[in-house]
Amino acid sequence: MPPARTLAAVTTPRRSPSLAGAARLARRVAAGEPPLGRARRVGRMLRELAYTHPDAHCELDFTTPYELAVATVLSAQTTDVRVNEVTPTLFARYPTPADYAGADRGELEELIRPTGFYRNKAASLIGLGTAVVEKHDGVLPHTLDELVALPGIGRKTANVILGNAFDIPGITVDTHFGRLVRRWGWTAEDDPVKVEHAVGALVPRRDWTIVSHEVIFHGRRVCHARKPACGACTLAADCPSYGAGPTDPAQAAALVNGPSRSWLLQLAGVPDDVADGGGPVDDPVVVDAGSEDPVGATADVP
Ligand code: SF4
Repeated sequence: MPPARTLAAVTTPRRSPSLAGAARLARRVAAGEPPLGRARRVGRMLRELAYTHPDAHCELDFTTPYELAVATVLSAQTTDVRVNEVTPTLFARYPTPADYAGADRGELEELIRPTGFYRNKAASLIGLGTAVVEKHDGVLPHTLDELVALPGIGRKTANVILGNAFDIPGITVDTHFGRLVRRWGWTAEDDPVKVEHAVGALVPRRDWTIVSHEVIFHGRRVCHARKPACGACTLAADCPSYGAGPTDPAQAAALVNGPSRSWLLQLAGVPDDVADGGGPVDDPVVVDAGSEDPVGATADVP
């Protein structure tokens, strides 16, 4: 549920950017924004993201760190919703790393087949279980170096596990996270590790995990890859890419997705009669038009 609006939030309208203002900001960012200016702008965007997406969280279901590791391996190239459909049966059938280590490959493949790439993923899960049993006495380690040394666990997956199962801050850089932070002028880096370090320098360490979720939520619901909903976006005033999508409130409102759509439109100042004009709703995981890479995917590609 969205939080109760504070007096400041109610009385302080979001600045409506102009295309000319956004173009000036884009030029400033492209030319090398002064560090202090960037820090202040990113700080405002972080506060806005937190207020906009109070429901941001890891959407993979799990009860133990090892279950999250399994779910994250399965989430490569599919949606969290699809993973959550298979994991209850999977977790009941294979409750420990030793169970995966000794799994019948064919049976395991059938159980995880709906998530795609099931042969590779089954091999990863058997290898992961074997390595955790042989090298870590059956207990999933909780350092980045130890996690990335395990089969099927890349840096992105390791950060998901650290941040969400062990409460150790981690920035999860996937395709969508990288696209968004470059679009916002937080970094110009393409390499995921460099993106992780650049964003890590801008965001307080304690917030790395939740900010990863908030960025991804904004990408799913508002700042879509092909057609971002700029005219209904709470980040617009500080975004150098304002205008990359429709700035007309009605057109933009129709692009906003998800269970908190009405809250997002209210925050963005879209009038009710405009917001009521339509738009897809209540789709927690959305595949951007034309994209084969599900927005909900959190794992490394197998
Ligand atoms: S929707 Fe538009 S204004 Fe909002 S963050 Fe994305 S590109 Fe920027």
